[in-house]
Amino acid sequence: MNMPMPAQDTTFPVYVVGAGPGGLATAAALRARGVRTVVLERSDRVGASWRRRHRTLRLHTTRRSSALPGLAVPRSAGRWVPGDVYADYLRRYAEHHRLEIAAGVEVARVERPEGGEGWLLRANGGRELRASAVVVATGHHRTPRLPSWPGAEDFPGPFEHASRYRDAEPYADLDVLVVGAGNTGTEIAADLAAHGAARVRLAVRGRPYLVRRATLGWPVQARHVLLRRLPDPVTDRVAAVLRRITGPDLSAQGLPRAEHGLYSAARRGTPPVVDTGFARAVRGGRVEPVAAVESFEGEKVHLADGSTIAPQAVVAATGYRPGLEELVGHLDVLDGRGVPRPPAHRAAAPGLYFTGFTDPVSGVLRELGRDADRIAKAVAHSRR
Ligand SMILES: Cc1cc2nc3c(=O)[nH]c(=O)nc-3n(C[C@H](O)[C@H](O)[C@H](O)COP(=O)(O)OP(=O)(O)OC[C@H]3O[C@@H](n4cnc5c(N)ncnc54)[C@H](O)[C@@H]3O)c2cc1C
Repeated sequence: MNMPMPAQDTTFPVYVVGAGPGGLATAAALRARGVRTVVLERSDRVGASWRRRHRTLRLHTTRRSSALPGLAVPRSAGRWVPGDVYADYLRRYAEHHRLEIAAGVEVARVERPEGGEGWLLRANGGRELRASAVVVATGHHRTPRLPSWPGAEDFPGPFEHASRYRDAEPYADLDVLVVGAGNTGTEIAADLAAHGAARVRLAVRGRPYLVRRATLGWPVQARHVLLRRLPDPVTDRVAAVLRRITGPDLSAQGLPRAEHGLYSAARRGTPPVVDTGFARAVRGGRVEPVAAVESFEGEKVHLADGSTIAPQAVVAATGYRPGLEELVGHLDVLDGRGVPRPPAHRAAAPGLYFTGFTDPVSGVLRELGRDADRIAKAVAHSRR
């Protein structure tokens, strides 16, 4: 049941935590409704997460569906926008909407103030900030996830999480094992193979659901937007038929097709893997799929099929978690996976909102723009 929310105290601003696309779009929507809003960003500039990603990254979502409300991504960026160009776009977005950004402010905890209205934010440097409402936009991909493989700490070569991978240069002439066949792992494996690694193997657990970025000029996300109102079993079936006709098939190279449904798996947090060159690299023998990693022993890596390999370097593309426990874990708003329970536009507690914690097939960036307006509407409504 939806409880009526008490009217908000408007003495204090709304604080948006995180100046990524989600935080910026929400701040712009709030500002457009006349709500005083300050964006708090832990790094020294907006869009920091896009500047840290690998250099060859291009968005999987088209230029149009990656634009945030109120400012187009320039045509010169091309259909598939490079990551650093998107980071520049975010900087211009903040300027265009004249957003108030406080950089270098890392929020550690969101609390209810004793006996008061609104929220109290505890941030670095002993800052205590009072907010009438808070929007948490710290990103789904905030905290790198690294499995605790036995023996991994004694691996003698370079061993990094994918969040630290910028380009193939440090891996020139090395035999590299990339672990994890999600979007990041498959892209990094293809990048390593194209730019000088001596050998690239990709450790795969389960079967990735590979899709083409676009079919006959039609991006995969557009298909989802069209089909999303149908029940998952129906969209799963449509996706399976389309994949049979157009999807990359790497069964002959030891990577059988996924059996799970695309849409139902995406809803459970496993998005499809968008092929931007990985399938070609596997077919050409430049990326070799191998079984999942079980454990390490010195320079050896033991795999789930009983085989052992000895790569010189490891890149763990093993995903991220939202890492919200310290920030809001005490407020009883997270589910068992550490993800905020309510949808973005609904307050998790009076005056507390979250945005960007889903991974829809329609594209996160597209949905962030929509959620921004819903949140702004809800905040403005509660202040009447
Ligand atoms: C490699 C990669 C490629 C992707 N490609 C696409 C794509 O093509 N299309 C698409 O739609 N989606 C893509 N995504 C998903 C993508 O993460 C989101 O689209 C988008 O960046 C999410 O925006 P966000 O604002 O929610 O989070 P982020 O962009 O992660 O921004 C969060 C911000 O919060 C800041 N922050 C974190 N904690 C704190 C704190 N405690 N205090 C203050 N500030 C804090 C961070 O520094 C960061 O600036 C991709 C993700 C990855 C990892």
